[in-house]
Amino acid sequence: MKTIAVLGLGRMGQGIALRLIQTGHRVYVWNRSGAKAKALLDAGAIWAESPAAAALDATAIFAMVADDAASEAVWLGKEGALNHMSTGSFVIECSTLSAGHVKKLATAAAQRGLSYIDCPVTGLPESAASGQLTLLVGAKQEDLERVGPLLRSMSGVIRHFGPVGTGTAYKLMINLMGAVQIAALAEGLALAERLGLDREVVIAAVENSAAASPQVVRYVRRMAERTLSDHPAFTLRLRHKDAGYGVSLANSVGSPARLGEVAASWFAIACETDADRDEAAVIDVM
Ligand code: NAP
Repeated sequence: MKTIAVLGLGRMGQGIALRLIQTGHRVYVWNRSGAKAKALLDAGAIWAESPAAAALDATAIFAMVADDAASEAVWLGKEGALNHMSTGSFVIECSTLSAGHVKKLATAAAQRGLSYIDCPVTGLPESAASGQLTLLVGAKQEDLERVGPLLRSMSGVIRHFGPVGTGTAYKLMINLMGAVQIAALAEGLALAERLGLDREVVIAAVENSAAASPQVVRYVRRMAERTLSDHPAFTLRLRHKDAGYGVSLANSVGSPARLGEVAASWFAIACETDADRDEAAVIDVM
């Protein structure tokens, strides 16, 4: 049993914390709005008053928060965890963040003698709770060997891309492709509607077409029928954020991401109405 902390108890963080409790760890939890911790406290988690307080006993801290600003607050803010962690313990950042922010955070962690694990994930909230996330890791080999048993307790699939930053680089690349696919699906379905094609026939045909990626299959019926989830696993806000970070990364290395830019612009327009809707709502602006 190890003492672990989880900062950020949104859809994904709750699942990660629950999985860590269920695999026998002692888990401190913290969230900006405390109410989200209730179910976890009932399941055996211990409430920490701040990220700094969560850091005191923990040998590893996971963060799973919205974006760069949130990550900055929980690690480097006034009550941030980083300055309170013991030398040699692990900073495990699972949020999807910009490449620049990850570099800055990893540098700050190294200066404090901490081991930084760049660890964004793919998978839905239910996969987090059932230990079925895919971890996209950028880390030193020796750090990964030390933290491996802990990571394996929360996920069956660990992909090690190389040094710190490479997990995030891959995550931003694949999520930019996802943004393009979802925007292309919305555009295609909007066109099919305008052409008066039969909806059910279109859905069945798209699901079995050469363009039927898992992303397209996941959304085609929901978009075509406008049966958007009231409790979406992935929001317009998150997709827009990820696409923006992906386009910035592409630009920073001189690799144009024109399709990604166009997709990001559609998500930006959709966010203007209500950014917390199901990302499938991007069809409404097409
Ligand atoms: P979420 O449900 O919206 O949760 C966001 C979390 O960030 C909440 O705990 C929120 O706290 C916290 N937060 C936001 N701003 C903050 C700030 N300024 N200071 C401190 N905490 C702040 O999002 P999620 O779906 O769990 O996603 C979390 C991360 O995982 C994101 O980076 C997302 O891109 C990535 N991701 C999500 C999925 C998915 O399917 N949802 C899949 C893979 C990766 P409050 O509760 O107080 O608002």
